[in-house]
Amino acid sequence: MCRQGCKVVIFATPERAAILVGESLVPMIVPMLQDLGVEAEVAAYSVYKPGACFTYNADEVFEFRFADTPSDLPSYSYNVPRDQFNATLLAAAQKAGAKLVARNVQLRRVNDAGRIALDAESIQAAAGFWDEDAPDLIVDAAGRANLIGKLLNIPMQKGPRQDVALFAHVDRTELVDPGYVHNDRMDQGWCWRIPLPGRVSLGFVIPASYALQQGETPEQQYDQLLKTDTVLQRLAPDAKRVTEVLRFNNYQSISEKLCGENWVMLGDAGGFVDPVFSSGMLIAMDSATHLANTILANKPLTDYETVTKRHLTAWFEIVGFYYNGRLMSSINVGRTLTDNYFNRWLFVWISGHISRIFSGAAASSPFCLNLLRFLVTYGLKDQNPDVYKIK
Ligand SMILES: Cc1cc2nc3c(=O)[nH]c(=O)nc-3n(C[C@H](O)[C@H](O)[C@H](O)COP(=O)(O)OP(=O)(O)OC[C@H]3O[C@@H](n4cnc5c(N)ncnc54)[C@H](O)[C@@H]3O)c2cc1C
Repeated sequence: MCRQGCKVVIFATPERAAILVGESLVPMIVPMLQDLGVEAEVAAYSVYKPGACFTYNADEVFEFRFADTPSDLPSYSYNVPRDQFNATLLAAAQKAGAKLVARNVQLRRVNDAGRIALDAESIQAAAGFWDEDAPDLIVDAAGRANLIGKLLNIPMQKGPRQDVALFAHVDRTELVDPGYVHNDRMDQGWCWRIPLPGRVSLGFVIPASYALQQGETPEQQYDQLLKTDTVLQRLAPDAKRVTEVLRFNNYQSISEKLCGENWVMLGDAGGFVDPVFSSGMLIAMDSATHLANTILANKPLTDYETVTKRHLTAWFEIVGFYYNGRLMSSINVGRTLTDNYFNRWLFVWISGHISRIFSGAAASSPFCLNLLRFLVTYGLKDQNPDVYKIK
């Protein structure tokens, strides 16, 4: 936007949390880092990510290397310490010409039509940067604070899961590959293991009622699960927690509106689906690109809203196939096909298209999504998806 002559002010204060979620990036983000000219900087403080690994049972591990499936995307990505990654993106925005004002904004409603305005102090702090007294457009990129949604009472469409996520860093865990994002089915729920320099991000996504049975505070719940869950006993037997524990709930939700008269929502402010396929940063950064293109092309903001909602809704459906066990069942069918020339060709063709979804390139492509729907509905042969269900 700045490079095209728009005047952009970013209101942000330095992060205070010791750790931040959003650490595992999908390959589709790499071209965005290249476009911003920051890939080398990100690579220097991150862990190279060649793929992902899903563990369903002790003897059922599904490894997925990005390089193994034909794709026009980079065959890698990064696991990033989020505080450093945020600082890189902020510096890139400033280098491109955005003005940073180090303060948290407050918003107020101006009229019944839902026009909103910034507080006087914020306007004053940015004075002289805009041509007018106030900005033409206010972008709510404040994440789960959901500033505009709360101000205007915009309803959220809720997802089916009522999970909580407990998140901390530990000193070490077992790893199938030192760069993979690991996703493991636990006794109840699932956990991620994301290798970072010198530590591992270990997070549990479990039913809210199950979390409550483990203790009162997030720390008690986390430490108790680390000791007692049979899967964690195997994957992280010697893990020592090295940070506080952050707890997230009610995150499967999409705002019914993403734009209004002089405002628009971006990233988690507009909705977040689920951590399972690391789609959050992709949706946030991809939506930012769509928003910039919409504004620069002088198109209505509702165009941006339509594209972004389609993207969010597609991920809702895709993560559902993980939780109901159908995705893993269909992968298993693919792995047990009779070995002949046609089936080998079919396997490569299908996995090429399906991997485009999980690397982030085609989550809302009707063709890839329809192929996935077909496979998880009609391609299970005699497999019972309940075997792979996440409790
Ligand atoms: C448990 C969990 C695990 C996840 N794991 C992953 C993962 O591995 N990979 C992935 O891609 N995504 C993951 N995500 C999702 C990812 O964290 C988010 O989608 C992503 O951070 C969204 O970015 P954002 O900029 O919209 O919001 P945020 O990253 O939350 O940033 C919002 C910013 O706005 C600031 N702010 C708040 N209020 C104000 C105000 N009044 N004025 C100014 N600034 C304000 C906040 O301080 C914050 O810095 C995960 C999410 C959860 C819940």
